[in-house]
Amino acid sequence: MIPEFKVTVFKGDGIGPEIMEPTLDILQHLQNVSNKYSLLFSTADAGAAYYLETGQSLPAESVELARSSDAILLSAMGLPDVRYTDGTEISPQIELRKIFNLYAGVRPVTVRDGKNCPLIRPNRETIDFVLIRESTEGLFYTQGKGEVSKNEARETLLITRDISEKLFDFAFSLAAQRKATGSGKGTVTCVDKANVFRAFAFFREIFYERSKNFPDINAEHAYVDATALWMVQQPWDFDVLVTENMFGDILSDLGAGIMGGLGLAPSADIGDEHAVFQPCHGSAPDIAGKGIANPFAMILSAAMMLEWLGHRHKQAQMLLDSVLLKDAVNAALIDGHCVTGDIGGSATTAEAAEAVITYLASQ
Ligand code: ATP
Repeated sequence: MIPEFKVTVFKGDGIGPEIMEPTLDILQHLQNVSNKYSLLFSTADAGAAYYLETGQSLPAESVELARSSDAILLSAMGLPDVRYTDGTEISPQIELRKIFNLYAGVRPVTVRDGKNCPLIRPNRETIDFVLIRESTEGLFYTQGKGEVSKNEARETLLITRDISEKLFDFAFSLAAQRKATGSGKGTVTCVDKANVFRAFAFFREIFYERSKNFPDINAEHAYVDATALWMVQQPWDFDVLVTENMFGDILSDLGAGIMGGLGLAPSADIGDEHAVFQPCHGSAPDIAGKGIANPFAMILSAAMMLEWLGHRHKQAQMLLDSVLLKDAVNAALIDGHCVTGDIGGSATTAEAAEAVITYLASQ
């Protein structure tokens, strides 16, 4: 009997559905070829367009569907003109992080040949590191609840022991996994501002406490400002970086810039029981409906989903398919004929996705 995994699919807003559709086709193609696992997709409602229609942005049925599934695949959501009455944007993806306690925001930054990296890479150094952004607290703790008076505005940064311990354990485990597969150096760097804020000294202290449980992994720390500099000057030196929510938010866009743009940046938000996989970019309403959105960040997020499910359920074929899918995107980038306008080509979304399928079919 083939193992089955339920995947809840949020198609999103703007370009969301346009990049989700070919991604589901690709996942279907992969499972058909191996016939060793089955992904059962169910679509859930949410987002800005749904809010306009119904007054709800993330209905309870969708949350329950997501809760009962093995993984959640989510496309870009939200539209700048559609807002709650308090003026904030519709962002069910952030609500899902809180509902399912998805504390580890995983943002891989990889540059191999083919990617339009704006940095000069001596000896064509490979860039391959993972930024882990805590995603439930930090400076986002009072998101939407900050206090603003005529002369003052306040937001609270929260760091808890419980979440920090889970976050660091996740980071050390990931570094161990990367070291075991030969893709990482076995180092975790805690990125903070411990020289100025007590909260970050607390964060760092917990980091070193947890590091003792991972004696084979090297634990280091760096200030966030220096990290921004090194991400530009020598990003090939990094392995796994772990940081607070707001620092991670900013550094992950820098990471996307290193890769050549948001259209190539995948992500995962992972907790103990659930995980959401989604591209880093937004719903790009300026190009929605034109069929020219870059599907690669969404496809690479699907590859991360296969990897996570593969490790969690010990499914070797899913792990192989995850690698194959990343290779397929890379091959399309190196070939260069079927890349979209945001990364210098002129292909449509369908053509870019077709290039991935063609590579997969040739393997
Ligand atoms: P959000 O705040 O929701 O993350 P944002 O303000 O960062 O959104 P995006 O929607 O990510 O904005 O778009 C930023 C720019 O990048 C836009 O010009 C958009 O067209 C472009 N862009 C984003 N994603 C893609 C994509 N997949 N393909 C092509 N262009 C994209």
